[in-house]
Amino acid sequence: MLILTGPAGSGKTFLALQQLREAIRLHDDSVRLLVPTATMAAHLRNELAREGLVVRPSLIQTLWRFIERWVSDLPQISDPAYALLVERTVRRLNLPAFAKVADFGGFHAMLVRTLEELSTAGLDSAALEKYLTTTLGEALVKVHREVSCAISAKHLGSRSDRLRLAAERIGKGETAELKTVWLDGFFSLTDPELELVKALAAHAEVIVTLPDDEIASTTRGRLLAAGFAEKSLKRRREVPSRQLVVAPSLEREADEIARQIVEQNRAGRPFREIGIIIRSGDVYVPVLRSTLERFGIPARFYFGGELMEHAVVRYLAGAVDVMLGGWDYSETLAVMKLAPGAGTSAPMDRFDFAVRQRIPGCGLDALRKIADELPYPDQRVVRLLADLSALESWRALKLKPAEWTRSLASLRALHKTQRPREAAGHEAALTWRTQALALQAFDSALFEAALSFDSAAAMPLSDYWSTAKAVLKLQPLRVPDHRRDVVHVLSVHEARQWELPLVFVCGLVEGQFPRFHRPDPLLPEHARRRLKENGLRIRSAEDTEKEEKFLFDSAMTRATRALVLSYPKTDSRGEQNLRSLYLDLAEPAVRARPVRVRPVRTQAPGAPIMIRSSELLQVIATRHADVRPTALESFLQCPFQFFGRHTLKLEEPPLRPDQRLDFRMRGKIVHQTIAEWVNTKLPIEGIFDRIFHEGVAEKNFPAGYQTELLRAQMLEDLMHFAESDRWPADFESKTEEAFTCALVDGFSIHGRIDRLLKAPDGRGFIVDYKYSDKLKDKLENQNLLQGPLYALALERAFGLRPGGMFYCAMRKGFQYGGWGEQMENMNAANVLPLTSEWLQAGVERSVRAAGEITKGQIEPFPNDPRICPRCEFRDVCRFAGAGEALETAALETAEGA
Ligand code: SF4
Repeated sequence: MLILTGPAGSGKTFLALQQLREAIRLHDDSVRLLVPTATMAAHLRNELAREGLVVRPSLIQTLWRFIERWVSDLPQISDPAYALLVERTVRRLNLPAFAKVADFGGFHAMLVRTLEELSTAGLDSAALEKYLTTTLGEALVKVHREVSCAISAKHLGSRSDRLRLAAERIGKGETAELKTVWLDGFFSLTDPELELVKALAAHAEVIVTLPDDEIASTTRGRLLAAGFAEKSLKRRREVPSRQLVVAPSLEREADEIARQIVEQNRAGRPFREIGIIIRSGDVYVPVLRSTLERFGIPARFYFGGELMEHAVVRYLAGAVDVMLGGWDYSETLAVMKLAPGAGTSAPMDRFDFAVRQRIPGCGLDALRKIADELPYPDQRVVRLLADLSALESWRALKLKPAEWTRSLASLRALHKTQRPREAAGHEAALTWRTQALALQAFDSALFEAALSFDSAAAMPLSDYWSTAKAVLKLQPLRVPDHRRDVVHVLSVHEARQWELPLVFVCGLVEGQFPRFHRPDPLLPEHARRRLKENGLRIRSAEDTEKEEKFLFDSAMTRATRALVLSYPKTDSRGEQNLRSLYLDLAEPAVRARPVRVRPVRTQAPGAPIMIRSSELLQVIATRHADVRPTALESFLQCPFQFFGRHTLKLEEPPLRPDQRLDFRMRGKIVHQTIAEWVNTKLPIEGIFDRIFHEGVAEKNFPAGYQTELLRAQMLEDLMHFAESDRWPADFESKTEEAFTCALVDGFSIHGRIDRLLKAPDGRGFIVDYKYSDKLKDKLENQNLLQGPLYALALERAFGLRPGGMFYCAMRKGFQYGGWGEQMENMNAANVLPLTSEWLQAGVERSVRAAGEITKGQIEPFPNDPRICPRCEFRDVCRFAGAGEALETAALETAEGA
């Protein structure tokens, strides 16, 4: 009976493996190495396998699998079943202490965590009731007792029940073939685990390795008291090189890690010798997954996914939800888009737009009518809706749990997967394998849900489904990945027994590493301290802090050659992060290098991005022979933006009801009101009210504070406009005047003028209303052509002498600006001279732009990258500067907030 203590790198695991190596060579089956997790066991088996040693899985395994042979008659209650049992017990007991929160899912999750902690620590209700004497404490003990009794009644056991039973049976001498048992990778053992260790020690040589850290002191003390001897080891491994990197953001931190991995791999280091250690999986796993994939780095993530998050399960479960919920348009749309094939088809895009325009609403018949009207021969969306409508018949049924399980298992038919192809790559194979596992897990969750009901009781689907969904949410999804040459992405717990030449530890900021631990309101700190003072082993806040520091120290010692630490300077909202307090403030940090993955090109690098097909160029020339000045402005701002908006005529998806009263819609309402007021001179309030309410009826803006605020603001601006609009009485005023005029042979412009004023002497004035509070750079920006081209239209389309072309910003006050004669009603206006040179320069720029368009120029190249954050093509144009502009905009927003 021996405790081996020592720091990381002192060779504890090496000694255990050394004895195993000898045993394997001698075909001796009497040695066991027990570790905390299955992946740690697999990792150590792989280590030996790489040396050519064939290891039977039972030689290196988890403690849980090891005890299985003694407790196979007491199966462990599954996590979902345990959570359901806790929830039902709370509802049945209806305790006053939990009355206000008994229906909240968050409360149930918290209660399950606390009870599991008590159960794992081996603290039963009898041990607790003496010390937890408050109303809350008594309620907790009562639920704990009832849940434990219910588990026993089902002939199941908790982890601690099974450990104790195994200890009892081992104590009776059923371990004859075991001579040596190593326990490695644990930093603390619970009381039930210690009972098992002591029982084993009565029959075999037991060696427990522990870190020489305070966190292991209680376990060490208990083992010494049980008669274990202790041997201390010294650190043998060399200290690896260390680098601290600071990146501007989380994404750039992931880029830097990927860049260094690619560099190391090119220099000859296999991917399998590299590890990334993560403390906050929810923050780092998604970003690392996408970044490593983008850089083409094979990686294995040692993190279980959530079954409910998988697309297959979201689709099948979503179908039941929307049926039970009455086919809400937006929810049904979201589910349909998850359907393989039909969900990503072109008719689905059209259907999506058509349905979004009708949101809010519900009903399957209305959705089928929209699908029937789609102008596509491809009938996949129609067929998908027909498949979903088969679920309607379930609404009125009452079935027994097993019958619901069978019915819901038939939902699989909705998921029409593609057949796997020969020679598919790893990613495709992994996708198929994951889908198959998700479907299997979906079926087993339904089965598990059925077990929690009285098997003879018939019930409506809604009752069965709420339980099935609770099980689905708690069910993990683990996908095996047996590739060898991959980068290992590990949680800090998982990494404890790993040693790799190159290790990255990321996310070293306050709140993530060390992580903030929220206090447990069900078992508060004072209650925990009281339990500890009376000899019951439960974690206090101090223990949690010590564990966090231990995990950090452990992560720092996983590298044998090089350790790279990193953190992002700002968080996802652009706010400054604080460097982890575990890092030395004086430690210098190097900045992450900007990096960009080169896209796979099909044309020579450096070649201009253009359309070259003569047929397509002909189509473009015809389509853009007559353009609006604003389209030319869009081209001068960015050719790709023009291409998306005006050549392909891509549309943005219709907005949600709460977004529909946006800038564009407010501008439209204001323009319509001004047009009608100028023509009729009726009271502007009445005109505005009618137009606004027509908009409400047509677009379904939600009634509420925000809508009312915007409505009141528009009305105030319009009333101010009506009071201040003082053009000479003898001017003829027209609104929404359409025009077309030729610029050069074969190229013309057209447009619609907000307001055209004709003076009796033949002069013409144009006013272009902008529903904004300033004119920004309208007068200085050389890429804006609306001014000169509209002024030109005065002459060429209306036969008037250009007197002025003005913009009028009319939100929150008035501001005129433009070219021509300063009028009396434009106080403090910024008016520049309207000259023939200015007109000519505008024409030349327009003709030049038209020439570039017809040559097929479509390169994403913004004249001013500050427009990128507002551009609808920012996610597809692949202009590197767009990403930088977006980051800068996010930072500016955060700083301004
Ligand atoms: S995001 Fe910028 S570069 Fe990309 S299309 Fe829009 S304007 Fe052009």
